[in-house]
Amino acid sequence: MKITVLRLGHRFIRDKRISTHIGLVARALGADKLILDAPDDDVKRSVWKVVENWGGEFEICFTDDWKGYIKDFGGERIHLTMYGININEVLDDIKASKKDKLIIIGGEKVPPGVYSLVDRNIAIGNQPHSEVAALAVFLDRLFEGKELNKKFEGKKMIVPKSRGKKVLNER
Ligand code: SAM
Repeated sequence: MKITVLRLGHRFIRDKRISTHIGLVARALGADKLILDAPDDDVKRSVWKVVENWGGEFEICFTDDWKGYIKDFGGERIHLTMYGININEVLDDIKASKKDKLIIIGGEKVPPGVYSLVDRNIAIGNQPHSEVAALAVFLDRLFEGKELNKKFEGKKMIVPKSRGKKVLNER
């Protein structure tokens, strides 16, 4: 099962950091690909640098037709929104389907058409918070925490320690 994250509403000046964090969370928590709805090379470079150093197969690309991307996606399309059905009510159904998944997250304002284009509108609780948090919780619930043990083969690797820091470089 492949997981693609579609980030809508990216603004060049204000959202570089948050969209980069979406890419980092997506990669670290088991997604395979991030699609941005604006061609921001700074975000792509920042995420790519992490992939180069720390490994994994993660891809990042752009679309200028997010509606077409959602319509044509050959799997389950899940929009994360505080207005949706609480994840606790539908998680078992989502986990039961092994179809590829497109996870859609918004920004300041979500285009109204999104709600009817998708298969599910899912809330990570029905309170407003953040696209980064919503994505992180969704992926962790989907993978039941097992994504945190995923092995990444990169130039750098952390040797986990209870105190201090140890990183193996240029492996
Ligand atoms: N009022 C906006 C809306 O339409 O949901 C909130 C925008 S919020 C700043 C940006 C994004 O964070 C939303 O588009 C959604 O993807 C995600 N988000 C925020 N709270 C959420 C929640 N409780 N459940 C799921 N996603 C959430």
